Amino acid sequence: MLVAIELLFSPYKVAFLVFWFYLCMYLLQRFELSSLISARLKPWTNVLMLFAAPFVLFLFFTHEVFKKVEQTGVSIVDAFITTFGHAIKTIKYIKLGGARGNASIILLDPSGRSIHEIYGGKSNDDYAKQTVAVAERLIGDAVEMLASDILINPAENFDYDVRFRVDGVLSPYKKIDSFLCGAVVNSIKAISGMDIAEKRRPQDGAFVAKTPDGSVSFRVASAGILHGEKLSIRILNQNLAPQTLSEIGMDERTCQIVRDILSKDSGMILFCGPTGSGKSTSLYAMLREIDFYTRNVITIEDPVEYVLTGASQIEVNSKADITFAKSLRSILRQDPDVIMVGEIRDEETASIALKASQTGHMVLATLHSSSNSAALVRLLDLHISPLLMASGLNLIISQRLVRKLCNECKSEASLSDAQINALRQKNIDPGNIYAPVGCSKCGGTGYKGRIGVFDIMVIDDEVKRKISESKITVASSVKDDEQMKNNLHKQAMKLVIAGVTSLEEIKRIS
Ligand SMILES: [Zn+2]
Repeated sequence: MLVAIELLFSPYKVAFLVFWFYLCMYLLQRFELSSLISARLKPWTNVLMLFAAPFVLFLFFTHEVFKKVEQTGVSIVDAFITTFGHAIKTIKYIKLGGARGNASIILLDPSGRSIHEIYGGKSNDDYAKQTVAVAERLIGDAVEMLASDILINPAENFDYDVRFRVDGVLSPYKKIDSFLCGAVVNSIKAISGMDIAEKRRPQDGAFVAKTPDGSVSFRVASAGILHGEKLSIRILNQNLAPQTLSEIGMDERTCQIVRDILSKDSGMILFCGPTGSGKSTSLYAMLREIDFYTRNVITIEDPVEYVLTGASQIEVNSKADITFAKSLRSILRQDPDVIMVGEIRDEETASIALKASQTGHMVLATLHSSSNSAALVRLLDLHISPLLMASGLNLIISQRLVRKLCNECKSEASLSDAQINALRQKNIDPGNIYAPVGCSKCGGTGYKGRIGVFDIMVIDDEVKRKISESKITVASSVKDDEQMKNNLHKQAMKLVIAGVTSLEEIKRIS
């Protein structure tokens, strides 16, 4: 006869209870920072989660789905899919950034104190540690992806949009819940020497990151906007060595013209283009052609992007009243051979720079203008006399940048019959035209790196005569604009035929 022993808890029940406990703990930990649950309700939901995590999540999930249906009028299925996708992203994000930072990067303030010391180290506060880890991961990813800017913007629904600018194009990086992102913004402000309590007034600051490849500097600007505070971070990566003239995309003929002018004792080369057209990269490429040991090179920049060994670099700082014009005036007393002026913005700078170019100095500068002849009109606007312009200037170069196709994943473009016929008429083999695809090497964009297209205007005797006879007017500059667009388009088309860039990409410059 079997004697049944009645256990108070069967082994199955015990196993189930243990499993339930760990599941609740796991979900609690995973969703502690989730944007699925609002910050106001978090203390209550945490207690509830401890006992009944799967039920609580199910309730919130259902609530979220029905809220979406009510607000946007989408079907329940669609609402379910988007909410589910959002929850998965949140879990992935917490797994990625929340658990650990980027161990290979160390964030330091300008005096060399680390972010752990300033923001997270003193207390044993796990939340501060997690914030620092997310900040490190964010900065580390941006440096790794060769981004030039990081933009952190408060968005609707109490989220923050984090975006990276890579090769001149802004793309989303992550959405971070406002509770966590607010803390990340504060930690970055703290190491940039900014006032954390001040959230409305615009502020600026700087910090440095040490990576295995060297150091990277960051310029930070904050401003109060509609839904909170936004942060823009400019990345100045010292490790990306300035390129040569041919690497930036100049053809052999243009390179030779530039070299001939640079070898002279005096004169001026002016680079034109809109913001982000690679003007400063071109200035650095020209400086690389100069021997710093035999010629005294002084640069005035805002900000200094690369450290040039052998050159004296001055950074403009309007707060400390160090302007382009003031710096230029003072360095002329230091007997420079070559002067690089980051940007001509005002009458005084333009006039000193042009006068210097006539008195034994080689001046390299940039000017914000749409074309070469528009640059001349702009100088006239800055009250520069046509005679001074004609005698000082040697060369004006307009430039635009196009993204290069990623060599790992580009594929033959599928073209319409009309496009194929048009290409055949121009004797171009349509098989040489490539289109972007996207792979892990290029972050899924299909493009990697950029290359310049240039339109040059050599100020020879003929042009000098035109300028000094005041034949450059707004009307003639508009006509020349068309000519320039044609020139740039022709050059860009050469890059398409060479398989360097795509047809869609060159539409951006024409
Ligand atoms: Zn690729």
